[in-house]
Amino acid sequence: MSTFTFSHEERHAVFTVHGEKCYLCGALIDLLTMEVDHVIPERLLKEPDTLRAVLHGYGLPEDFNLNSYANWMPACKPCNNKKRGRVFNPVPIVQIQLQMAAEKAPRAAALAAEAIQKQTVTKAINTIQRALTAGTFLNEILTQLQPMVALHVKAREPEMTGEPIRLAPGYIIEASAHLVIGPVTLKAEGTVVSPVIKPAADLRVGGATHQSEAEAVEGEREQPPPAGPPAV
Ligand SMILES: [Zn+2]
Repeated sequence: MSTFTFSHEERHAVFTVHGEKCYLCGALIDLLTMEVDHVIPERLLKEPDTLRAVLHGYGLPEDFNLNSYANWMPACKPCNNKKRGRVFNPVPIVQIQLQMAAEKAPRAAALAAEAIQKQTVTKAINTIQRALTAGTFLNEILTQLQPMVALHVKAREPEMTGEPIRLAPGYIIEASAHLVIGPVTLKAEGTVVSPVIKPAADLRVGGATHQSEAEAVEGEREQPPPAGPPAV
């Protein structure tokens, strides 16, 4: 169990710079339910001798900070539960993960700083959490999410360009260059990016019907473009 409390900005930065997927199984994850894993477990802070041996095994300096972007990776809940406080053997694949985390750390820190400055991510997360509690449709809060979506689109890994933005279960914004929906059209690096509103029935969260990811994607394809701008 993690004792470090992550800020919304730190979670968003870890999620974004590592390609919005679980580093252990590769599954796409959403920002709200994803977990941040300490590659080298945080519990070792209470076991200095073991920690020293583990860091030595990985070829890392003794002052390596377990609570830094160099040790934080995004994980899905099942993988993180399975891993818990386990220490990976210092095999190449784990060393590559740590190396990648270290390489991406400055970018993650810069993204979090930018988000903190304008409160973009915190405001969006608060909006999503309120909407989830109230069962509000995604299209009703899209305008409020716009600053965060704009920041996110700009910061995404190249491989995620144009991919749906998974904010929370059932709250998925599809970036498409084809559809323009009134006030929620976003401009990012010269490209028009427009969130596509999913069929309203799929968006209600907390109700009895909960579509699987595959069904939700299928539903999106069959849905014609929405007729008008969303209610604000
Ligand atoms: Zn996973």
